[in-house]
Amino acid sequence: MNHHTEHPPTFLDTLSRPLRSLRLSVTDRCNLRCQYCMPEEEYVWLPRKEILTLEEVSGLVDIFAELGVDKVRLTGGEPLVRRDLAALVKMIAHNQRIKDLAITTNGVLLAESAQSLYDAGLHRVTVSLDTLRPDRFTALTRRDFHDKVLDGIKAAGQVGFTGLKIDTVVMRGVNEDELIDLLEFGRQISAEVRFIEYMDVGGATLWSMNRVFSRAQILEVLTRRYGHIEPVAPVSAAPADRFVLPDGTVFGIVASTTTPFCRTCDRSRLTADGTWYLCLYAQHGIDLRSPLRAGVSKAELISTIVSGWTRRSDRGAEERKEMRSREVLIPVERLRADPHLEMHTRGG
Ligand code: SAM
Ligand code: SF4
Ligand code: SF4
Repeated sequence: MNHHTEHPPTFLDTLSRPLRSLRLSVTDRCNLRCQYCMPEEEYVWLPRKEILTLEEVSGLVDIFAELGVDKVRLTGGEPLVRRDLAALVKMIAHNQRIKDLAITTNGVLLAESAQSLYDAGLHRVTVSLDTLRPDRFTALTRRDFHDKVLDGIKAAGQVGFTGLKIDTVVMRGVNEDELIDLLEFGRQISAEVRFIEYMDVGGATLWSMNRVFSRAQILEVLTRRYGHIEPVAPVSAAPADRFVLPDGTVFGIVASTTTPFCRTCDRSRLTADGTWYLCLYAQHGIDLRSPLRAGVSKAELISTIVSGWTRRSDRGAEERKEMRSREVLIPVERLRADPHLEMHTRGG
């Protein structure tokens, strides 16, 4: 292995997909309770002593970076409820191999943390926002924080972040009537809106195919309003299909449910307690915390990661799509017994 050369080695999985992008779930806790992610009243949280320290996370990121990871996204739970997140950003931003360091946040705490995240060297911000209507927001998230989210979005622009993105999960009967309003909102604040199909991930215990508003339906609504919509040629393995309206506004659609993109998926996920998942839908992960805390050598950690990735054959969303009758992925009882199966642990 040529760790010392300028370009890290490329490890391919069984479907020839490179190890390139890492999502770090820095906490499983959240200050919202979105229907499609955390529909229950009570949750079993990861034990505190098992949560990796910021130094442990950043040490693992450094190893992943040596193995080819150059994109890191901070997520959760809600990443901004993790204390000292800016310190972690600083450590990761320091690693020259990481070319793209982004966060996905619900925005509630963004107004107060945007400046420190920017100063720490965070590159990009994505805020999840499903509705522009305060009452709807409260119904969807069971918390009354719509104003805070809007303030957070504003603050991100004010402190200097560019390339802001707004992620919207579109659900039939919930917010599919807001596509145009959200696009207009995005245009006003120079943010690129990405519409995400409702997915049957762990935690989405209220999911049903009837509530999925598909990419085709989204395009139909927008074409009726704006006229011809042109696809934009893809620039990376990013999951969003991008489109441009006649006036030049660009938006994205992440069609994970009806048109999965597992073929090119270079993503893996590290939970806050150091379990490494090779797919959003994977039922088992690879424990990196135990070897790390047992003090194994770096070479051993590297070999665990490399052997995990080179054996990877996951194509969870495609397999779900191939199922004839598609029920809720994981029943509530199993989620309660194993919080690792939750989307809010896994990090979306
Ligand atoms: N709390 C942060 C947030 O909401 O942005 C980060 C974690 S959240 C799990 C990451 C993303 O997953 C959010 O954009 C959220 O909307 C999305 N998500 C959660 N459950 C989903 C589902 N069932 N289908 C599609 N997207 C989902
Ligand atoms: Fe909502 Fe994100 Fe929290 Fe899930 S983790 S409940 S999507 S804010
Ligand atoms: Fe990647 Fe798994 Fe999502 Fe497919 S389902 S795109 S393999 S994370």
